[in-house]
Amino acid sequence: MLGRGKADSSIKKRDPSEFEERLSRWRRHIHANPELSFEETETTAFIAGELEKLGLTPRGFKLGTGLWCDIPAADDAPAKDVVALRADIDALPMSEASGESFSSEAEGVSHSCGHDGHTAMLLGAAELLVADPPPRPVRLIFQPAEETMPGGAKTCVEEGVVKGVDRILALHCDPHRKVGEVGVTAGPITSSNAKIGVHVHSDGGHTARPHETQDTVHALAQIVMGLGGVIDRRTDPRSGTVLTWGSVNAGGSAPNVIPDSGELWGTLRSADRDVWATIEPIVREAIEHLAALYEIRAEVDYIQGVPPVVNDADCAELAAQAVESVLGSEGVGSADQSSGGEDFAWYTEEIPGVYLRLGVSDGESEETDLHHPGFVLDERALAHGARIFDAFARLHRAE
Ligand SMILES: [Zn+2]
Ligand SMILES: [Zn+2]
Repeated sequence: MLGRGKADSSIKKRDPSEFEERLSRWRRHIHANPELSFEETETTAFIAGELEKLGLTPRGFKLGTGLWCDIPAADDAPAKDVVALRADIDALPMSEASGESFSSEAEGVSHSCGHDGHTAMLLGAAELLVADPPPRPVRLIFQPAEETMPGGAKTCVEEGVVKGVDRILALHCDPHRKVGEVGVTAGPITSSNAKIGVHVHSDGGHTARPHETQDTVHALAQIVMGLGGVIDRRTDPRSGTVLTWGSVNAGGSAPNVIPDSGELWGTLRSADRDVWATIEPIVREAIEHLAALYEIRAEVDYIQGVPPVVNDADCAELAAQAVESVLGSEGVGSADQSSGGEDFAWYTEEIPGVYLRLGVSDGESEETDLHHPGFVLDERALAHGARIFDAFARLHRAE
């Protein structure tokens, strides 16, 4: 069972500015010490240490990094209808160029997706919930490896982290939205993502006599241009399905030599869950047929990624109430579905949940996107996120 009760009594009399300073301190520590997916060892130890200071008992995942932790309800109400709150904790394999004094100290690794902020917000929520226990138990999930495919969430869910959980909330930093505003919407909010690899082989030969061999370059070019067209005709045009090639390589050594192999890598995204679930055979068939026109056998790697996150209508309503209680009605904004993928979808495949876009732009600096080396966030958003987590955990779902 849970450890409980040795919380520092000074937390109950917290001063808001002290709370904000603490959030900022946590965030900056994690920011300066980023760790890649599945390697978040120090980050996990840091989170565990802070939770233990609150009298909580964190538990690890089999993945080896990340952790989860339960906060009991007021008066030890029975552990049913648990509310889960999730933060992702991993960083990206890219350098930072934000100019912040607390920039990454790890070469080629940075928190350019704001997961350092998410982690600090959830630690802040833990503090608020311990100081004033909620009506239902709360499960905090500090999840590793969001930036991978199909994402650390899949394994966490398979381990049973949402068993007995009634609903779940996650927030993501949104640098295109001003601090003080949160995007809330019911229905799909992110898109699916699959990775496609195509490998072709031929005997190779002289470019003067392509008819005597199999032209790998021509076949790859037809697949690059042709597959998108096939997908356009075989999926509902309203599904927001987009194929983009990121790597094309035929490894040719000379302008007059047909290379004997080549490969393509790309991503296939869709705003539609049914397309995510059903399109793989169409992709395989189209690639194989396009290559066969050139007497080339194509091997296809189809690596299925996350489905779209679909926000539950009741949870979105509760989240809007939570945001309003923290930021006022003007803080509740709308949110469009993005074509980005998010492994929070593995939770919403299992239980009702909601994913919010938290404004982190100061409205003055030049906007920088997520996954950009210059990404910065306005730290006032940290307290907003912590308090929205806290408020959501205290609301009741209509029965
Ligand atoms: Zn990201
Ligand atoms: Zn992210």
